Amino acid sequence: MSFSLRPHHKFRKVEDISPEFLRRKGVELLILDVDNTIAPYKTLTLEPAVLEWARSIKDAGVRLFIVSNNKGQRPEVFSKLLDISFIKRAGKPSPRGVREALSASGVEARRAALVGDQIYTDTIAGALAGVRVILVEPIKFTNIFLAIRYFFELPFRRARESED
Ligand SMILES: [Mg+2]
Repeated sequence: MSFSLRPHHKFRKVEDISPEFLRRKGVELLILDVDNTIAPYKTLTLEPAVLEWARSIKDAGVRLFIVSNNKGQRPEVFSKLLDISFIKRAGKPSPRGVREALSASGVEARRAALVGDQIYTDTIAGALAGVRVILVEPIKFTNIFLAIRYFFELPFRRARESED
């Protein structure tokens, strides 16, 4: 897939990404960002709606894999809750963590997608690794810097493809 700062698809939250949508796009592996994508910063639990969504994705035969820049315990805590693998300190926008997840899963880049809430880390890492990029809205702005960064992302937050 060609490189772009714009995501292929955009949803408000991860729970809006349906198993049917992923099947239509031929996605076998969905790589998850953690912070502000599946949980707000600092929490150590997942909302029931997110757990239920993850189960529905796995039930549909799509594998999940956490690739997070987080250096703390959250990637591991959430990977245990979801019973999936994880990579932390991924260094996005470097594509390294995404590529590691692909090779650990044995899935080709064109059969994988990454979902995250940021342009300058998630979208770039996904684009450099050649996977489909799905952008969601950040769950919560916990400080002014997140809001400022979001402002500078706005020119790129439009999706390139329609949802069908
Ligand atoms: Mg994030």
